[in-house]
Amino acid sequence: MSIFEQVESEVRSYSRSFPVVFNQARGAELTTEEGRTYIDFLAGAGTLNYGHNNPELKEALVEYISSDGITHGLDMQSSAKARFLETFHEYILKPREMEDFKVMFTGPTGTNAVEAALKLARKVKGRSTIAAFTNGFHGCSAGALAATGNQHHRGGMGTSLNDVFRLPFDGYLGEGVDTTEYFEKLLNDPSSGLDHPAAVVVETVQGEGGLNAASAEWLRNLEAVCRRHDMLLIVDDIQAGCGRTGSFFSFEEAGIRPDIVTLSKSLSAYGLPFAVVTYRKDLDIWSPGEHNGTFRGNNLAFVTAAKAFELFWKDNSFAEEVQHKAAHLRDGLEKIIRHYGPATLKLKGRGLMSGIECPDGDMAGAVIKEAFENGLVIETSGAHDQVVKCLVPLTITMAQIDFGLNVLDKAFANATAEREQKAS
Ligand SMILES: *Cc1c(COP(=O)(O)O)cnc(C)c1O
Repeated sequence: MSIFEQVESEVRSYSRSFPVVFNQARGAELTTEEGRTYIDFLAGAGTLNYGHNNPELKEALVEYISSDGITHGLDMQSSAKARFLETFHEYILKPREMEDFKVMFTGPTGTNAVEAALKLARKVKGRSTIAAFTNGFHGCSAGALAATGNQHHRGGMGTSLNDVFRLPFDGYLGEGVDTTEYFEKLLNDPSSGLDHPAAVVVETVQGEGGLNAASAEWLRNLEAVCRRHDMLLIVDDIQAGCGRTGSFFSFEEAGIRPDIVTLSKSLSAYGLPFAVVTYRKDLDIWSPGEHNGTFRGNNLAFVTAAKAFELFWKDNSFAEEVQHKAAHLRDGLEKIIRHYGPATLKLKGRGLMSGIECPDGDMAGAVIKEAFENGLVIETSGAHDQVVKCLVPLTITMAQIDFGLNVLDKAFANATAEREQKAS
């Protein structure tokens, strides 16, 4: 029995899909204790957009640590925090006409940022209901979990999850049904049973929910409903943000302007725990310490995040590189679909958050299992774990993408053959 089976809780999850012991990592490569190297198509569930141990970020971090820079300082002022705020304002907010946005540091996990965002929205509007979507994932602490759809996660709570109204996401009722019209109908009907929400919380691409990508038009319609009915629009950009879809924020393509945005996962750029909520200045009605936390702001993460803004987001070239790689990846996935199941397989997602939906979770599970045997770390997502999800580091090379596509091609060939055999 391994030390993990012996001592670590049964709650462990990713380790079950990849039963090896990883020891080192560089870029898009993970190496085990035995010296076997894997290509990483999981990237810390979207936490490693700039790859493992990015050399330039590592250098900045090592230098900061060596010079006895502040590691922990509660939410006190530090040079590293100043640098983070300056670069975030200069390279991220300002070019996107969000210079009037403030930054709130929360505890260092995504779910903490969501908790703070929902609290703030309720406080600003003086209403308790939040509208959230089918298949949405927002975290596992009580407030965020209430907005999460997944039964498996919700079931773990053991208490009732309140004050969230569930709406069908884009495409949930089939193509050609604009679910924002349904939402507005409920809002206009005093007998619909929907209590006026304080805010709507939405992912533009549902990462854990199966790579469901909202259309730009649907997002614009959702924004318009929020404006007409005095509700705040919260975009949970924890997974889809930080460049994953080909722009820093995932909502840029749609041209919408959320009131509140949550960021975590790849925000530190180095896999360090770090989360923020950013929102319009006029919403900043917190009193000092009202939402608190010992680890608000991780100074090591400030250093690597600021460095990443300077390295990757001073101009549009990195975003264009991501778009180019995304087109290549999606072409490859489309080829697999054409080859093995144009009627049964489906391309999902947007940008470097793309994948293939299988008819069921068994098939997707067989694909990722075989892929792992052949040197690829990749996971599934979706209500039935039916989507094979490619979440590559944005800094991955074309050759590494092609390696992964070849492994997937072979895995889909076998999984398809097995399915057909079972059916006949
Ligand atoms: C991962 C994720 C969260 C939760 O982040 P944690 O750090 O796991 O708490 C929230 N929202 C989205 C969209 C996520 O992908």
